[in-house]
Amino acid sequence: MSIVGTGQFFGSPEEERDKLLRDLMAQKRDRTSPSGIPVITLNDGNTIPQLGFGVFKVDPQETEQVVTEALAAGYRHIDTAAFYDNEEAVGRAIARSGIPRGELFITTKLWPSRFDDAEMAFNESLEKLGLDYVDLYLLHWPAPRNNNFVRAWKALEGFGERARSIGVCNFLPEHLDRLIDETTIVPAVNQVELHPALQQRETRAHARKHGIAVEAWAPLGQWRYDLAGEAPIAAAAEAHAKTAAQVVIRWHLQNGIIIFPKTVNPERMKENLNVFDFELTAEEMLAIDGLDRGQRLGSHPNEKH
Ligand code: NDP
Repeated sequence: MSIVGTGQFFGSPEEERDKLLRDLMAQKRDRTSPSGIPVITLNDGNTIPQLGFGVFKVDPQETEQVVTEALAAGYRHIDTAAFYDNEEAVGRAIARSGIPRGELFITTKLWPSRFDDAEMAFNESLEKLGLDYVDLYLLHWPAPRNNNFVRAWKALEGFGERARSIGVCNFLPEHLDRLIDETTIVPAVNQVELHPALQQRETRAHARKHGIAVEAWAPLGQWRYDLAGEAPIAAAAEAHAKTAAQVVIRWHLQNGIIIFPKTVNPERMKENLNVFDFELTAEEMLAIDGLDRGQRLGSHPNEKH
């Protein structure tokens, strides 16, 4: 494919190539962009696309390409973290995409070792991402033994429009109660490990009571147990001619949970988005609810740090 001589643009060869790439991405977006991703309104009035794309464990060297492909597939909500060491690559993919900032929803997170240093850590994240604001900024773990998450939260409360929404991850109801009692802003979200084998009913009920949206990390159980072999998932997949991953994504969405499955595989990126042409029945939802066995894949929030 020739990368020069488009006849319309007279910049340097590098600028010409970048423009062509942007044009191609725009065409691809028009063909594949799913218009059907629902949004959820948070307790601060901001909206968040309910289905996004996570980049935990995406190699920093590959992240720019992976996020570029995810944006081309139609994702507009990206979940990263300072801890993932790939914010710079996410930022490069965003810049390269040419997608207007207002059409994107970008989340990053503050690691507990920086809780006493939140302002500086936040500025570093913004700089790495190449952004002047993030849509959502989260405390990554409560690290209760350090006894400084309340102080860190008060710092987040001061970030104003540079962190449009603020929230937490891995907070138990007892940690949230402390924040609610001792600070001003109720977190917009709590991002917790949540998948069919760990359904977090107590945390979800507590969140509902306080108007906190629930985000699921490991929505596909990190593909570490045999989701496709679970009978209710297999039955629903067969009934709707969908994959096990699509059934589980649909189960989250119908439960009102915000998710951002991670994949480095472009085909799976599309598969995970292709979930808006079917609906699980109440019986199918209930049968998947029955798979809860309290099976944690990650750390317990009181044990980490
Ligand atoms: P997920 O449940 O999203 O699972 C990711 C795994 O599933 C990968 O191995 C991927 O493999 C595989 N996969 C994805 N789609 C499919 C599919 N359609 N069919 C088969 N396999 C599939 O786990 P994550 O831990 O990544 O959770 C999602 C996001 O949540 C993270 O990326 C991160 O943004 C966030 N997170 C937050 C945490 C926190 O403490 N706040 C902790 C952990 C995650 P492959 O890439 O090879 O396709």
